[in-house]
Amino acid sequence: MQVDIRCAKCGSKNLVVRTSDRMTMHSTSSIVYCNSCHACKMQVMSEIVQVEIASYEQSDAVMRLNKPLDETDPNQIEMPMN
Ligand SMILES: [Zn+2]
Repeated sequence: MQVDIRCAKCGSKNLVVRTSDRMTMHSTSSIVYCNSCHACKMQVMSEIVQVEIASYEQSDAVMRLNKPLDETDPNQIEMPMN
C-alpha cells in the first residue's frame, strides 16, 4: 500500500515503516523512520473513515461491525430499509 506521507523534518517520501500495530478494527498506528535524513522518527495513525462496497454505496452498517463484512451472516446485518 502506497500512502503519500513525507518526513516532517526534510520532506522526503523515502520512509521506512518499522512497526505497524492494528489498534482497532479500523485504525493502525505505525512507527516510521526517514530513510533520507535518518534524523526523524514519526508515529503515523491510519484510519478507515468511510467504506464503500462493490456498488460504491456508503455502508454505515460496515462501520458498526466488529469483524470483516464477508465473515458476517448477511441476514444478521441491519441494513436501512429503502
Ligand atoms: Zn527526513
